[in-house]
Amino acid sequence: MSANFLKVSCRDCSNESIIFSRATTAIACAVCGATLTNPAGGKAQLVGCNVVESLE
Ligand SMILES: [Zn+2]
Repeated sequence: MSANFLKVSCRDCSNESIIFSRATTAIACAVCGATLTNPAGGKAQLVGCNVVESLE
């Protein structure tokens, strides 16, 4: 089981955010407020963003 951080890009405004891959709360874009992830089964489900890269 790996836990890491992901750099993601908001689909609405392209703002890049760093999120925890196992975030247990919904995360919203800091710029436009769009929901980026929802918690699902102990890991973050990406709903409004694209992964740019995985960080250790
Ligand atoms: Zn955004």
